[in-house]
Amino acid sequence: MQTRNLINNEWIDGPRGERLAVVDPATDSAIAEVPSCGPAEVARAVDAAAGAFPAWRARPAQERSGPLRRLFELMMREEDRLARLMTLEQGKPLAEARGEIRYGASFVEWGAEEAKRVYGETIPASAASKRILVLRQPLGVVAAITPWNFPCAMITRKIAPALAAGCTVVVKPAEQTPLSALALGELCLEAGFPPGVVNIVTGEPEAIGGAIFADARVRAVSFTGSTEVGRILMRLAAPNITRLSLELGGQAPFIVFEDADLDAAVAGLVASKFRNAGQTCICANRVYVQRSVRDAVLGKLREAVAALKVGPGDEEGVAIGPLIDDDAVAKVERHIADAHERGGRIVAGGEVFRPRDGLARRFVAPTIIDGLTPDMLCAREETFGPVVPIAAFDAEEEALALANGSPFGLAAYFYTRDASRLIRVAEALEFGVVGANDGAPSSAQAPFGGVKHSGFGREGGRHSLDEYTALKYVSCGVA
Ligand code: ADP
Repeated sequence: MQTRNLINNEWIDGPRGERLAVVDPATDSAIAEVPSCGPAEVARAVDAAAGAFPAWRARPAQERSGPLRRLFELMMREEDRLARLMTLEQGKPLAEARGEIRYGASFVEWGAEEAKRVYGETIPASAASKRILVLRQPLGVVAAITPWNFPCAMITRKIAPALAAGCTVVVKPAEQTPLSALALGELCLEAGFPPGVVNIVTGEPEAIGGAIFADARVRAVSFTGSTEVGRILMRLAAPNITRLSLELGGQAPFIVFEDADLDAAVAGLVASKFRNAGQTCICANRVYVQRSVRDAVLGKLREAVAALKVGPGDEEGVAIGPLIDDDAVAKVERHIADAHERGGRIVAGGEVFRPRDGLARRFVAPTIIDGLTPDMLCAREETFGPVVPIAAFDAEEEALALANGSPFGLAAYFYTRDASRLIRVAEALEFGVVGANDGAPSSAQAPFGGVKHSGFGREGGRHSLDEYTALKYVSCGVA
């Protein structure tokens, strides 16, 4: 297991041997220590990335594509090992961890292909004596600050398009899940990225974040995390006008219309809600069901939820692992208690427990709360746990008003078999990602990202390279 940091293709220790502990969320026991780096290591990493940039950007696209392609192949070769490491430090069920490695690798594969298509344009000029060329050029050194809920995919989603575009990168993974990032670093070395192209620094977020934004050579920062930290980063970005891409919190509505395929809707809801124990920014957070099918949906949902096994992620058949830490548990308990106090009826689950001796009290039974109202915490904040609050609605406009009545705008879902309604509702939802009869909309080809307090910038698809490139036009006088 790699526990050191990667700078300039060398493995380094932190300052004066300072370390951060990494903990298995299922047992609360320490599994490793990683360096607690600070401004000095960030400066070294940026030096390395800045030094590597001219040669990396100058490579023909095919030659930038090569190491990305090899990284994809290595991730697939190492899928099982990477997945086990992820389950150990993050807690998600092994099958999901394997899925994340494949999903994370798909961005690298896609980046390897798209590296060959960083096209510019020519634009017809207004004078016969002129030509306008548009160049699409890499920004330079970019930083990726990533969260713990997808320890691999949130990194590859950022670095693959950045590297494809010709940028060099400094990655700061979440302090809870640095081991998956460092394992990816080992594969980057094996894949043949030149020294300085990929650097990984672990440590205290404020010290590293501050140093990243203070360095004018860092031309862009791509961040996934909370809206609260997103605001801090916007302030940090001001002095150097650092370009930002922010994928922040969500509060996803999930609407089931009476004309929906109810079995498909419930399957989609379970997929969206319970993946990663409800700890994803696109998890369904509030469910609106048309009144005429409310009882039917509730019945099917209770049945589906009863089949979900809760336990440590490495145990056979487990669908819901532990929450990441005690703060996460406290938040979920607060949301359940608040919903109950405001008149919600807990129709399944509701407990936080320890499945057996030796495990931490971090496991939440999949919970259904009937009677969701807009004043409840779970209708306003991201719950980040396996809790489904449900409200009934009567008309389409009412469902849309409820769905859009949130400052967040990342993902929204709805189920209908009416083709006109599908288009109408998809257009009216104020969100960056819409799952229309689809509970799992993420893919490497599509431009993922939010609006409103969920941030800006897109990851995935050809638009993801826009975050790491600048357009330059050249107006040429022709005699
Ligand atoms: P979450 O709520 O998912 O833990 P956070 O927004 O707290 O999300 O963290 C997401 C990432 O941002 C992590 O890598 C974390 O270390 C980092 N981070 C948190 N605070 C700061 C900060 N002030 N400056 C830079 N990075 C930060």
